[in-house]
Amino acid sequence: DVVVGVLAVQGDVREHVATIESLGGRAVPVRRPSELPAIDGLIIPGGESTTIDKLTRTFGLAEPLRELIAGGLPVYGSCAGMILLSDVIADPSTDRLGNPQQTLGGLDMVVRRNAFGRQRESFEADLDFQGLATTGSAAGEDPVRAVFIRAPWVEKVGDGVQVLAQVPAAETPQAGPPAAGEAAGEHGAEADLAPVARIVAVRSGNLLATSFHPEVTGERRVHELFIRMIRGEA
Ligand code: GLN
Repeated sequence: DVVVGVLAVQGDVREHVATIESLGGRAVPVRRPSELPAIDGLIIPGGESTTIDKLTRTFGLAEPLRELIAGGLPVYGSCAGMILLSDVIADPSTDRLGNPQQTLGGLDMVVRRNAFGRQRESFEADLDFQGLATTGSAAGEDPVRAVFIRAPWVEKVGDGVQVLAQVPAAETPQAGPPAAGEAAGEHGAEADLAPVARIVAVRSGNLLATSFHPEVTGERRVHELFIRMIRGEA
């Protein structure tokens, strides 16, 4: 059966391992380049994208991962993982030396970090999600209960990127006024405008990404879609 690696340098690794195992897949944590040849696909978990970026480079994983992504390895990125798979970050964090955070890339799109407003730590929404199959008691067309935790949104997609889910305008939280000491720009580019629908799940070829965390709600259909992608069934 398929072996799904979970990048285990930082973030919610265990929840992804548990979800893959609950679907009958094998999940293995990945921390070093020597572990890469054994995997059929990789999950990049949620966490802190700057930390995952730094540790991935420190452990010598970044370059081999870029090559594997270009070579067609199926990769699913959730939240911080979505940021790591994006070609461009609208508002990258910079380290003490002024170097911007890097991504592995692969998805022809622009993400904005913490886009739904930093003071609003998290929110939930029911989403229509394209391409899901039935898993357990959930039908493919049942909405996905999505939990967003300091989540990014996708601001712009290239031609090859398919939008799988959006937060409808009516459910997009208003960014609101900046918290004390914070720049208004941190709350998204259009904080003063009326809310619009926001892209929060995408696919392009071998790559899948969601702004939210299906692994924390018992939602298994997104991981099931990813396993089908690895098997070449989706
Ligand atoms: N805001 C985080 C980042 O920029 C992502 C949050 C998450 O993964 N839950 O990396």
